[in-house]
Amino acid sequence: MTWYILGAGSLGCLWAARLARAGQPVRLLLRDRQRLDAYRACGGISLIEDGQESLYPIPAETADQSGQIQRLLLACKAYDAEAAAASVAARLAPGAELILLQNGLGSQQAVASHLPRARCLYASSTEGAFRAADFRVVFAGKGQTWVGDEQQGAAPGWLDELKSAGIPVGWNDDILERLWRKLAMNCAINPLTVLHQCRNGELAGHADEVAGLCDELGKLLHAGGYPQAAEQLHGEVQHVIAATAANYSSMYQDVAQSRRTEIAYLLGHACAEGDRLGLPLPRLHALHQRLRESLRQRGLPDA
Ligand code: NAP
Repeated sequence: MTWYILGAGSLGCLWAARLARAGQPVRLLLRDRQRLDAYRACGGISLIEDGQESLYPIPAETADQSGQIQRLLLACKAYDAEAAAASVAARLAPGAELILLQNGLGSQQAVASHLPRARCLYASSTEGAFRAADFRVVFAGKGQTWVGDEQQGAAPGWLDELKSAGIPVGWNDDILERLWRKLAMNCAINPLTVLHQCRNGELAGHADEVAGLCDELGKLLHAGGYPQAAEQLHGEVQHVIAATAANYSSMYQDVAQSRRTEIAYLLGHACAEGDRLGLPLPRLHALHQRLRESLRQRGLPDA
């Protein structure tokens, strides 16, 4: 069974290279002819891992080809997910299975609602990769990817195929809780690093602000039905701030490189969920407004 990978960026290339290396059939889906030509000129995907670079000449095609797709990894940013999924919707076999790799929340549900005949599984990953150049990816941090089903279905048998390809995946019975926990951690740290223009560790000097956000995020998680995601949230945020003190957050790096952020699916989603629940979250809303204003001032999309 061929794995189709839509989105040949950091994580898409990382997954594609490992599947190809394990001898599993894999095809890349690129957005248009221009990207396909650029890919072919590179001769394949280059993965740099532990300082070693390897080239994987994985077959690729544009999304508008006609072959049926049974398994798809959707590996684009959250704000591109709906359009990217729509571009292959007609090719999906009945009962096709998708892994949605997007960070935050909201995009997964939007994609799933447009694909009622497909099985959309959500993923949450702590692996780290970045693009050194087009189709040339650095595997920067080992981690784990959790996959789960919002509809509470059983784990698919092919998880073992992924594991045997060296992709550390595990099944999570409550993937929404995991995604909410990660979203809350992100909301407590990343926006402040953009607003204070600082590394994670410098947030130790803004302890009251961090504590206030964690308090509201905990209330939101409880009200939303994810009390376990709220447990020890402030403690883990403080731990991450200390353990990654020298690092710049992913949102900080996106803004520094004038790249669009996934704010709408992170802090924006938290605020929208609070509104939906009728829960006043003044600190989170104020943070959201300040962040949006800061993005606008830099000429970046504020959603
Ligand atoms: P990325 O490097 O920006 O790659 C996204 C890719 O999607 C790009 O190659 C882009 O194509 C492609 N794409 C977008 N729309 C498309 C379409 N309609 N058709 C075909 N291709 C399309 O993103 P990423 O870092 O891999 O992140 C993907 C998701 O994983 C994000 O939600 C991110 O937050 C999450 N995540 C990433 C990491 C990490 O370390 N990178 C870790 C954990 C979670 P072009 O090249 O043509 O623009």
